[in-house]
Amino acid sequence: MNDKILNEILVLLRSHYHIINIETVDDDRAYAIAKEVAELKNLPFFEWSVHKGLMKMGDAFLDTQDILKVLTYISGTIDQGVYLLRGFKPFLENTEVQSHLISLVDRLNNDESALFFTGKGAHLEDPLKSHIASLTLPLPTENELLKLLKQIYQDLSQKNKIEINISKKDLEVLILNLKGLSLFEAKKILTMVMVEDGILSKNDIQKVIESKKRLIEKEGVLEYYTPEESFADIASLKGLKDWLKKRQYFIEKPDQARKMGLDFPKGILLLGVPGTGKSLCAKAVSQEWRLPLLRMDPAKLYSKYIGETESKFNKAMQISEKMSPLILWIDEIEKAFASSGDSDGGLSQRIIGSFLSWMQERKGDVFVIATANDITKLPPEFLRKGRFDEIFFVDLPDQDSRKEILKIHLKRRNLSYLNLELDELAMLMEGFSGAEIEQVIISALYSTLSDDVNITHSVLEKEITSTNPLSRTYGEKIQSLRNWAKTRTVSAN
Ligand code: ADP
Repeated sequence: MNDKILNEILVLLRSHYHIINIETVDDDRAYAIAKEVAELKNLPFFEWSVHKGLMKMGDAFLDTQDILKVLTYISGTIDQGVYLLRGFKPFLENTEVQSHLISLVDRLNNDESALFFTGKGAHLEDPLKSHIASLTLPLPTENELLKLLKQIYQDLSQKNKIEINISKKDLEVLILNLKGLSLFEAKKILTMVMVEDGILSKNDIQKVIESKKRLIEKEGVLEYYTPEESFADIASLKGLKDWLKKRQYFIEKPDQARKMGLDFPKGILLLGVPGTGKSLCAKAVSQEWRLPLLRMDPAKLYSKYIGETESKFNKAMQISEKMSPLILWIDEIEKAFASSGDSDGGLSQRIIGSFLSWMQERKGDVFVIATANDITKLPPEFLRKGRFDEIFFVDLPDQDSRKEILKIHLKRRNLSYLNLELDELAMLMEGFSGAEIEQVIISALYSTLSDDVNITHSVLEKEITSTNPLSRTYGEKIQSLRNWAKTRTVSAN
């Protein structure tokens, strides 16, 4: 269980708050917490729900579905106990329930008893508000998820044989991939992967990822990525990599960083020529920082139905807050937030406004990586100081970087470059983006595959001369982007 939450509850109880409202979407978590409090205090644990009535260790009390009867029971009994009233909140609107609760405050104050409740709806009003504490549960920690896994294993093992065949390291990865889910969602997934084939193994990591992906992508606008790229896969871009490496301190030691007065980094805007590794960077940061990566797909954001775009957008932002800490990658942000003036009834303007205020007020630790190729289509509000921590300009690779990119991509395909004149090839590729260099290698590979020979200098040279890089066609556009970036951005290279 989350020790921080448990401590908070114990402090509340010591401060004579014996009735605690638990704000959560995850009733199972409230249950785990209330039960742990009962165990710590060595008191019997009771739970109530409208369907089952009052229960103690699985045994139901007769005729206790009615909440008033339960409140009367609690105020009448001389025995101490910890109670969890599930789905209780809507009953707060009932004045009789309110007055029962007020009298319960005094009754519970006399001993060590505690009453927790959950549910949606009704707000706490005075005078109840001053006697009842409220606590919001964050999502389960890795430790809690591990405990859940052990619990599920124990429960399932009573009926079926479940084999555990997974290394400690793989188990860590599996748990890490469950982060961001509620205990209820994690429980469903873990049970499914164990029951399916009676074994918990390394193969289940992929199943966990896929289930989580399905849950997140159900809403439509966000895609869940599990990238494998790291900084070692990116040639050059030293300025950007150094900046990101420094911020990693916060991710690894958030408490220390906060004590030093630092805040969770807001995000960066990567502006530059297409194919220069901006998206690659977003993926690598996720891998290096060990944070989940959600990609917002602008194409899926806009809908013809009134109000649906905004609602999709708000939902996407809520999901990222809920799953935080994470990286939210907005690819080609100019497409998601292009302002089309009044032609769309002000919709794009409203979405831009919502995004900017979300950037300012977001609740979770969400690091935004936005990429953009075309500055002219980007609303100027985005470029104002303070929106992003930094705006980086990613230019076409220079001679050394092109050579490095060549090496990375040849090596990735197990191709030896010992016999290749890399300097000369890199020179011939002046004006090529990283993506175009990679494409040259892929095309050369296809050419040699059919003849079953190794890649040679001349094959690569031939592919280079038949490529028409973007910088040739859009030279002017790239130059004006460069000029714009000179005084307004930091160089990523
Ligand atoms: P962008 O987002 O800037 O348009 P991408 O990151 O999608 O470009 O780049 C496409 C591909 O080109 C990458 O997946 C990678 O294989 C290759 N590439 C681009 N830049 C680099 C680089 N600096 N180092 C290594 N590979 C690169």
